[in-house]
Amino acid sequence: MLKGIAASEGIGIGKVMIIEDNTLEYTPKTVSDTDAELQRFRNAVDAFCDETMEQAESVKKTAGEKEAEILMGHIYMMKDPGMVGSMEAQITGGQCAEAALEQVCDMFIEAFSSTGDEVTAQRAADVKDIKTAILSILLGVKTVKISEAPAGTVIVAKEVTPSMTAGINKDKIVGIITETGSQTSHSAILARALEIPAVLSVENCTTTLSSGEQVIADGSDGIVITAPSEEQINEYTTKRDAFLREKRELENYRGKKTLSASGEEYELFCNIGTPKDATKAMEADGEGVGLFRTEFLFMDRNALPTEDEQFEAYKQAALILKGKGLIIRTLDIGGDKEIPYLGLEKEENPFMGFRAIRYCLKNRDLFKSQLKAILRASAFGDIRIMFPLITAVEELREGKALVEEAKSDLRASGIEFDENIKIGVMTETAASGVIAHLLAKESDFFSIGTNDLTGYTMAADRGNGDVAYLYSPFQPSVLMMIKRIINCANEAGIPVGMCGEAAANPMMIPLLISFGLTEFSVSAPSVLKVRKNIAKWTKAEADKVAGDVMNMATEKEIVDYLKNII
Ligand code: PEP
Ligand code: MG
Repeated sequence: MLKGIAASEGIGIGKVMIIEDNTLEYTPKTVSDTDAELQRFRNAVDAFCDETMEQAESVKKTAGEKEAEILMGHIYMMKDPGMVGSMEAQITGGQCAEAALEQVCDMFIEAFSSTGDEVTAQRAADVKDIKTAILSILLGVKTVKISEAPAGTVIVAKEVTPSMTAGINKDKIVGIITETGSQTSHSAILARALEIPAVLSVENCTTTLSSGEQVIADGSDGIVITAPSEEQINEYTTKRDAFLREKRELENYRGKKTLSASGEEYELFCNIGTPKDATKAMEADGEGVGLFRTEFLFMDRNALPTEDEQFEAYKQAALILKGKGLIIRTLDIGGDKEIPYLGLEKEENPFMGFRAIRYCLKNRDLFKSQLKAILRASAFGDIRIMFPLITAVEELREGKALVEEAKSDLRASGIEFDENIKIGVMTETAASGVIAHLLAKESDFFSIGTNDLTGYTMAADRGNGDVAYLYSPFQPSVLMMIKRIINCANEAGIPVGMCGEAAANPMMIPLLISFGLTEFSVSAPSVLKVRKNIAKWTKAEADKVAGDVMNMATEKEIVDYLKNII
């Protein structure tokens, strides 16, 4: 078995076709007829642009418009006077077209790769793809025709370039395995758009696998099974068929409202960590964002993001959501979420320590700059603010007072924002559950964070395997907390969502329907599954289940019962 990155869901069972790198060798030479060489180069660039345009047309049909744009980007790059101008200048200076192309491309590849930024690194891959394509034209080397692959082919390559994808026929290619690439590389994006299972970053796969051998590419778990036994083939065929059946079935829920079987309507939002995830949320048919974990904007860097940088990120997410609800959680650091440059002192008990809203209220400049960034972005969408880890009413009041200060600063500078921005509480501590009736009077909404609420209610660290047996949202105590929080919100007439992992659990759904939750916020891939699971229950059936469950004394009893009825 070979391990890699699960980059595109599904299972491909088929025969390997290794896509070799073409040997594009040539001997650099000096040319005397530079005009003729320049013409040869321009002809090659024209041929490249024509070919790429055709490929983009075909990708538009098979994968989609956005994916075709990747290839159009290659044409724009080769029309860019900076890049082509440098190549032409080298040719005029006496270099052959091949060497001029290679040198300039390598310079760009080097510059793009050295930034360490993923998006810019992707540009390096694009330039590499362009270089190979034009060199092939100049040298008259024929590229391997993926379009001629027989049905049931698993492509194995160093990387799947955008130009390669043009030849991929979805009915013939059942899997993709590559040596390089990450979740966000072009190979992954294209594989997902084509809905072909893909396992990326499988070390040495182009040499360990050989053309014609049978493999199973499991793009859901990120593994490749070589020389599968008959038993494994049967097992994975069943898995593949179940996966495809569920996928087809789930598609029936796309573009629909989120309704219970008795017609109650719910909001079905997504959890995101970056503005880019907002696109994924929309593609997944999310109806908004119920939790934007802003700490990701603060991680993987050496200094705080500025107010402007944050504003751009929040605004970008708002624009992607086109007026749909966007709940931005203010900085939730500490505990398991470390930000080294903040220099937080090591604590005996970080989960109970100086973190989240507690840290923000003591670091008012940092907090205010985030609040101002959120407020400025609120002019571009339906943005709401949510405070994490609230345990006392004073924290909510202080946070709200700081929002007011941020508002008056912006007013004084004549900057627009949503004057009526909603401010809510993430109810994820035992204390917030107990005082939910008090918090509800002063909040515009609640969102239940069951990941932490479970830990804080059970006094069981969510990352500690030794107490994992206690860490369950189906513990009677946690269910009572959830019920209480929802009740208090309902009584105060404010919306109440759930953004912890439990919101997507099919066993939790009837309970939440019965308790009166109004919004579910889940990861993008869970959206359609949750919509389907909500549609299974009438309110009366859900009430019966909740009634039974709330009379049970142990987690085991509850889970056994729920497993039986879903
Ligand atoms: C939670 O605690 O349930 C939650 C959604 O937040 P996080 O997982 O980011 O702590
Ligand atoms: Mg939390």
